[in-house]
Amino acid sequence: MQLIDGKYRFDGGIDPLDLCKTYGTPLYVYDAAIMRRQYERLTQAFPYPKLHIHYACKALTNLAVMRLFRQWGAGLDCVSIEEVQLGLLAGFPAADILYTPNFAGADEYEEAVRLGVKINIDALPMLENWGLHHRDVPVCIRINPHLMAGGNEKISVGHIDSKFGISIHQLPHVLRVVESQGLRIEGLHMHTGSDILDVDVFLRGAEILFEAARKFPDLQYIDLGSGFKVPYKTDDIETDVEELGEKLSRRFTEFCAEYGRELTLMFEPGKFLVSEAGYLFARCTLVKQTTSTVFVGLNTGLNHLIRPMFYGSYHKIINVTEPQFKPRIYTVVGNICETDTFGVDRRIPEVVEGDILCFYNAGAYGWMMASNYNSRPRPAEVLLLDGKAHLIRRRESLEDLTRNQIAV
Ligand SMILES: *Cc1c(COP(=O)(O)O)cnc(C)c1O
Repeated sequence: MQLIDGKYRFDGGIDPLDLCKTYGTPLYVYDAAIMRRQYERLTQAFPYPKLHIHYACKALTNLAVMRLFRQWGAGLDCVSIEEVQLGLLAGFPAADILYTPNFAGADEYEEAVRLGVKINIDALPMLENWGLHHRDVPVCIRINPHLMAGGNEKISVGHIDSKFGISIHQLPHVLRVVESQGLRIEGLHMHTGSDILDVDVFLRGAEILFEAARKFPDLQYIDLGSGFKVPYKTDDIETDVEELGEKLSRRFTEFCAEYGRELTLMFEPGKFLVSEAGYLFARCTLVKQTTSTVFVGLNTGLNHLIRPMFYGSYHKIINVTEPQFKPRIYTVVGNICETDTFGVDRRIPEVVEGDILCFYNAGAYGWMMASNYNSRPRPAEVLLLDGKAHLIRRRESLEDLTRNQIAV
């Protein structure tokens, strides 16, 4: 979205205020061109030829979005059997789907085997039982390399106390299980968490996986997960994917030469691919001045965008209706009966009741983490594709809120 002659416009001249009028607010809008740009940027950053990007679809699981990534050649990373089923619905071949759950029950793994997707095992007990029924089904193993990485405690999943993956320190045990049961290990995987700022963290993680990989002769791929940080503010730091692509491709090529086979190098970003493509538009319901603070209240809240409250994440906020007014300092809050503060002391062009405000970086973990808390319906979703706006999910209604309830 760009400010052109004092008015915000999407590519093709689409007026966001028109979208808000047509589809109502709050409204999620996704720009396919930005998703495409991010996907291309990542694939072009790696000179290594056997690269496969799997879109971590939990970030934004709308079928229309998944279909785009399939068209562009991506695979899919799924963390639940329902995501797998949605991925198949979106047209991904089973072989392009990696099922990477955590604490999923044996029944879910059974279903994944039946559906024929790639399976990532992230716990020793699951591996120990694998040979009983599925000795012939090759699997990937999720290793926890215990790198302390990630923007904060809540999104860092590689540290020593993390519930994710099989500890690298348990590798001897893994090898005994694999050998005694004759399992075929086709992949090794790590995912250390979000917001890794330092390319060397990836490289250290890769070295740990290479070291482990030497002990598994049947590998087809190594998946280094995600954790690519995107910018949230002007001049914000982000993961240097070009530097990563250069350095890692070189190192991966060397490793494969030593291993004796050209393996597929996989990544599974969510946020990197869709965060910047998404915008949440909401209407100002009220401006309230207290003794010390001016609150801008919106017709949305933590029920629709919980990341600021959950992770302390920063989302740029603009006034779409009046971009030219003199800025004032606001605390922007939601309408939920909780303290749902989106941003404190934000400089935003003067806001009056009825103005449309917009949150940036709302593509990843925005709609997907939305709830019906306070019995408010979840927003509609619109996809901008080739200069046209497409409604890809209707706004919920009262009927949706009562659909599964049973009167007694
Ligand atoms: C969530 C998740 C991802 C994506 O993480 P982002 O920070 O959104 O890129 C990748 N892999 C696994 C296993 C995940 O759980």
